[in-house]
Amino acid sequence: MYRIDTSFVKAMEAIQEDLVTLDPVPWLSNATTRVHVLRLDRIHPLISGNKWYKLRFYLKTAKAQGKHIVTFGGAYSNHLLATAAACQLEGIRCAGVIRGEAPEFYSPTLKDAASIGMELHFITREAYRQKQVPGSFSEANWLIVPEGGYGIYGMQGAATIPVGSGSFDHICCATGTGTMMAGLLQSAPDSTRITGFSVLKNHHSLPQEIDRLLAPAARAYTIRHDFHFGGYAKYTPGLIRFMNELYDHTGIPTDFVYTAKLFYGVKALLGQEQERRSNLLVIHSGGLQGNRSLAKGTLIF
Ligand SMILES: *Cc1c(COP(=O)(O)O)cnc(C)c1O
Repeated sequence: MYRIDTSFVKAMEAIQEDLVTLDPVPWLSNATTRVHVLRLDRIHPLISGNKWYKLRFYLKTAKAQGKHIVTFGGAYSNHLLATAAACQLEGIRCAGVIRGEAPEFYSPTLKDAASIGMELHFITREAYRQKQVPGSFSEANWLIVPEGGYGIYGMQGAATIPVGSGSFDHICCATGTGTMMAGLLQSAPDSTRITGFSVLKNHHSLPQEIDRLLAPAARAYTIRHDFHFGGYAKYTPGLIRFMNELYDHTGIPTDFVYTAKLFYGVKALLGQEQERRSNLLVIHSGGLQGNRSLAKGTLIF
């Protein structure tokens, strides 16, 4: 059993969408492009950023159908912890299926998820890869939320991210499963360009996965495959330096798995391009808890 830290539980009391801000970022802007950041990371310490939006309709459905929730993730998964926290807030029983054998010591993410009531089930990497749901989770009682919240509900929830209807002609976001990006493609005006920065290496099936959620009418968008820094959860000293530099100049904290790669990519592209005038929105999708896997002192925030 894990001791529950009461200050931590206190931070869990509510989801505060009204804390989301839209801030200008002069440090990223240049002569032709004005950059703003949408701070979704502010809504809750654990139900971070896009995860709340992607989960909201799964939660609603589980409640309406009187079901528990089971979902999937790795040992540092933002989605897993966000699901645990959201289910705790909503009073929904929940379980997490974790990739790999039960470790001797839980990661901080797993410890937190367990301490707020998520039941953890470890399955082999092979079973996980085949997306096997352990037999104890019958569909009669459990709503199965795919990894990362990927699915129609996830996309519909992401479509409620407040991207400021029409004020921006270009939106940039980090992409894992592409669920958030599909939601943005659904909700933003057709004239808004949308660029996703893939955090996985060679994730070339991503457009298909996005289009499957949007079928039949997918619209044009861009995915950058050149800012993954070696692949999922990989990083370089240069990325860490950039995170500290960004924070130093703007006060914006980022996580090394998703948003650092996004902001790095945006800065790099704006350094190259002398484009037509544009108003660019960068979505800070949260994920800061993942930085706990870095050695202490790595980051200045
Ligand atoms: C999960 C996550 C993403 C990826 O969202 P998808 O909908 O899976 O593409 C992006 N940013 C952060 C911080 C995340 O935690």
